[in-house]
Amino acid sequence: MPSFPIADDYARARGLPSDLPPERPPAPILKGQAALVTGASSGIGRAIAIGLARAGARVAVNYRKSAAEADGVLAEIAADGGEAIGVQGDVSVEDQVEAMFARTVAAFGALDILVSNAGLQQDAAFDEMTLDQWRRVIDVNLTGQFLCARAAVRQFKAQGLRPEVSTARGKIICISSVHDVIPWAGHVNYAASKGGVMLMMKSLAQEVAPLRIRVNSICPGAIRTPINTQAWSTPEAYGALMDLVPYKRIGEPQDIAQAAVWLASDYADYISGINLYVDGGMTLYPGFEEGG
Ligand code: NAD
Repeated sequence: MPSFPIADDYARARGLPSDLPPERPPAPILKGQAALVTGASSGIGRAIAIGLARAGARVAVNYRKSAAEADGVLAEIAADGGEAIGVQGDVSVEDQVEAMFARTVAAFGALDILVSNAGLQQDAAFDEMTLDQWRRVIDVNLTGQFLCARAAVRQFKAQGLRPEVSTARGKIICISSVHDVIPWAGHVNYAASKGGVMLMMKSLAQEVAPLRIRVNSICPGAIRTPINTQAWSTPEAYGALMDLVPYKRIGEPQDIAQAAVWLASDYADYISGINLYVDGGMTLYPGFEEGG
């Protein structure tokens, strides 16, 4: 089990239990299904790819640049007895998205689950934000979700129902953020992109639900990944972050992976068009714990 000294010290000083949730034995609830996870060579995407594979899915691990990092994910899945392939592609580039879906379907014969996770931040004060910073974040975080969801819906419609593996024709999970509802000064492009994901997801969910395609979002709070190292890598930063988290621990990528496995499975078959906040209560207005 990995050790996280800052988080462990924080918990110990407050008499809280270990900040890591125990590992649960995987159940093969996605057996026979094929999944594509974007931005899966690091952080949350990596954990989701491994989690889906442990639940029995065959997984296409999308990466933009680092084949070596993606190979690490493939090796971990193989060591667990799972099956996965690497698919290179930039989610904001239409023909690259089409190519990675074609590659996935060629390898697995079908697609049942898309987890649209790739995302980035390019932070700046609003009056210093360049048009390139605005466009890059919208292109990857919002247009990338559109291109991937469109390719998935086309594939789900073409292949029809596969009742031997799932009640639904297909499942799309958008990895959004608590910043689809919490405004975020200094990150206007990011919050705008995630707010856009919310109504793209809900409108699409409404449109394709009659086809038995389920579309939902998972909205992470603060999760320990490379995207937000500055928020957890020193005791001061970790302590300040905990002011925003009622559950008083940082989220781990496996917290998101476990939610994704469940949401992709038939246990969540009647769930369509929701934002599932996996955030330790960050969206509970923690400033009101003692105020108001
Ligand atoms: P991360 O930086 O480790 O992961 C992002 C991944 O997306 C990387 O693997 C990166 O290579 C990939 N990527 C970026 N641009 C891409 C592109 N154009 N095409 C394909 N892949 C691309 O950070 P993370 O925290 O794991 O982020 C994953 C998702 O979770 C993002 O959408 C992020 O906005 C969201 N999120 C993260 C947190 C958090 O606290 N870590 C909170 C809320 C939401």
